[in-house]
Amino acid sequence: MLYTSTRNSDLRISSAKAIVSGISKDGGLFVPEKLPHISSVNLELLSNMNYIERASFILSKFLTDFTNEEILECVDKAYSKEKFSSDDIAKVVKLDDNKFVLELWHGPTCAFKDMALQLLPHLLTTSMKKEAGLKNVKILVATSGDTGKAALEGFKNVNGTSILVFYPENGVSDMQKLQMVTQDGKNVDVCSIKGNFDDAQSGVKKIFTDKELCEQLNEKGVLLSSANSINWGRLVPQIVYYFSAYCDMLKNGQLRNGELVNIVVPTGNFGNILAAYYAKKMGLPVKKFICASNSNNVLTDFINTGRYDKNRKFYSTISPSMDILISSNLERLLFHLYNENDKKICNLYGQLVNEGSFEVCEEVKIKLQDEFYGEFCDDIHTKKTIKSVFNKYRYLIDPHTAVAFNVYGKYVMDSKDNTKTIIASTASPYKFAKDVLDSIGEFADGNIFEKLGELSKITRTEIPKPISNLNSKNVRFNKVISRDEMKNYLLNNAVCDKI
Ligand SMILES: *Cc1c(COP(=O)(O)O)cnc(C)c1O
Repeated sequence: MLYTSTRNSDLRISSAKAIVSGISKDGGLFVPEKLPHISSVNLELLSNMNYIERASFILSKFLTDFTNEEILECVDKAYSKEKFSSDDIAKVVKLDDNKFVLELWHGPTCAFKDMALQLLPHLLTTSMKKEAGLKNVKILVATSGDTGKAALEGFKNVNGTSILVFYPENGVSDMQKLQMVTQDGKNVDVCSIKGNFDDAQSGVKKIFTDKELCEQLNEKGVLLSSANSINWGRLVPQIVYYFSAYCDMLKNGQLRNGELVNIVVPTGNFGNILAAYYAKKMGLPVKKFICASNSNNVLTDFINTGRYDKNRKFYSTISPSMDILISSNLERLLFHLYNENDKKICNLYGQLVNEGSFEVCEEVKIKLQDEFYGEFCDDIHTKKTIKSVFNKYRYLIDPHTAVAFNVYGKYVMDSKDNTKTIIASTASPYKFAKDVLDSIGEFADGNIFEKLGELSKITRTEIPKPISNLNSKNVRFNKVISRDEMKNYLLNNAVCDKI
């Protein structure tokens, strides 16, 4: 299987090269030239496997330049018992006859990004061995909260790698910040940026496309790569859990093989929902994708009007990992909806840079609306949803997942569709304890740890270990810089030389 770029469809590279490079030189994103097919017989087979076996099966279809042993080794390291608190890895919880929650937060940082970022470092270091001459890689990450911590946990102390994470100074929750600034590991660095997530992300993008800088680093023997969700090595692990969820439901007799499901995803950078879309293109029986946004509803408007317009007010919400106005992975979807027409994508993204907006043609808009339903939910309704879901099911959800529940409610009202539905739950409620407590009408004075204790008491659930352990850790990182200083910071920071 070879990979091409959304902005140059003549390009053909191996998966190892795509994973090592992160983003294509032409500014486009790597996509598989053709998707593998998973048949209903395969689904039956996968149902009798555990998560690690399912992941190896799906990955082997995409990473054809990896040996089966290499894939198994990577997957084994990523989804080990020490790292995931649930044997199922990605557990499906049935709430009622048509609502099934896919819990993607049993990893070491309690958010869904662990699903990909526990695997990526191993895919990357294996890929580097295949790409002759590559010994050291520097991972650069812009994060709106969860990616940063998950990437730090994934890469810490992995030989031949080092990692630098930039996060917006006031754009992450207290808990997310605490998780990052106390990160341990000898090859990690964390720095905050004055501005919002898009400032951090465009700063990182600028560094990646800075040829001179990349050469300077190459002279030091350092290759720059990304752990942001634009990396193919981030996306491919996410395809696995949609198949896995369907197979769990098959196994438990909750679905007939071939029965359609809806999938609801709380969306920011469009990576998670895109993985679900790829699963459908590969044969997973999906009826509708429900794309849930918070007040930063650029995707809602795009799905409903065909016009993408980032010129709008930016909101800092209680679901900060979705506070995004440029959903990078949308480029991949558009490439497929435009039948792999790279010229079209170059045009649209040229307009996005110059004018901050673009509009797709009528034909693409129809295809888009056929597959996707888009709506959004503000903070007030997010909180109401946490409360109503808790009261109704005694099931506690975090603000991101609540956005998904709320938008799913709107979808059912609009469509009267009662198809069984998988709702992606992307973070543990403990990661957002303050807002979750507020929502269910309980208050706790004092610091975050007291709030965690209160939440645990009220809901009779256990505080995840990676969160309760933070109490005893020291702050290691406290630098704040402006967006213009990012390049110099990277060049001057000591970790760069040490890897
Ligand atoms: C990153 C994140 C999202 C958004 O996922 P995308 O792949 O960027 O669309 C949603 N919820 C949580 C908790 C996240 O960390």
